[in-house]
Amino acid sequence: MPTTAAKKGTAPRKRADTRKQVSNDAQWSLRRERGLQVLQAPALVRLDWLVHGFSTRPGGASKLKTLCDRRKKNENVLNLGFTEWDKRKCVLENRAKFFAAVGAGKMRAATMQQIHSDIVHRVDAVAPENASRDAALQGDALFTREGDMLLVVQTADCIPILLADAKHRAVAAIHAGWRGTLRRIAEKTLGRMKMEFGTRPQDVLAALGPGIGQCCYEVGPEVAKEFQAQFPNARDWFEGPFDSLASGENDPNWLPWLTMMPPGHQAPPPRVRLDLIAANRAILSGAGIASGNIFSSGLCTACRPDLLFSYRRERNTGRMMAAIGIK
Ligand SMILES: [Zn+2]
Repeated sequence: MPTTAAKKGTAPRKRADTRKQVSNDAQWSLRRERGLQVLQAPALVRLDWLVHGFSTRPGGASKLKTLCDRRKKNENVLNLGFTEWDKRKCVLENRAKFFAAVGAGKMRAATMQQIHSDIVHRVDAVAPENASRDAALQGDALFTREGDMLLVVQTADCIPILLADAKHRAVAAIHAGWRGTLRRIAEKTLGRMKMEFGTRPQDVLAALGPGIGQCCYEVGPEVAKEFQAQFPNARDWFEGPFDSLASGENDPNWLPWLTMMPPGHQAPPPRVRLDLIAANRAILSGAGIASGNIFSSGLCTACRPDLLFSYRRERNTGRMMAAIGIK
């Protein structure tokens, strides 16, 4: 997504000096704060009772070894996950910096061990911090209506989704990769908010942060089949030979072996490309959120190594955070 769009200045901006527009579609802004760049959805910025932000790659205390023009370099990145290659001290420093940049310096962060599930947790309090590790809580979505805590999910290709119920002042943070999307984790989170807080979908705003785009997200027949089995309109979210993959027409068979075709000479199995943003948009609007209240950054993690981390593209890389909290 070209950042040059910022120069056209089509979006009404409160702080024109520090914000630049990165997405035409929903007019998201990239706010520069304390040497970091934080992505924000304007619809959520307008709610003065909450703080939120999606972290990006540049800045930070972590040193990531990357290849640039075939030369190794040490890039300074804002890695927010406890990855093998990084020092705990750097991650903690980065987290403190990011939390301060979103205006949550004094809030306690609620984190999880994310497991690509549909497990949703209501958080009413965060234990006095043992900030040096993530909470032992396993799951992929958090929601609350308590103040002074920051709900956090970590991603590096999966879609981070933030929900805000403007009427009941409740919030949620969701981690949705293909497995979570397949299990409708966003819809299940909204369902819990309905049950426990009386949230009505028409009062909810949803912000879908940067994740791997359809441009870069090839998946195999197993994913096509699972989506086909779960969603009548799954076909709308795939590019490529979805029907033949989902029906199993292209499943491996022994024919190349029988015809003595040497290994490596078979055509590669066909793949399709999945649009996780479109799938989650459809799931959220199917759950009753007006499509005009669902906002996407339009940024693909794999297309933007300058701005974002992509596990699929890089493997050895950092983690971003999406965070939301009630003041
Ligand atoms: Zn892409």
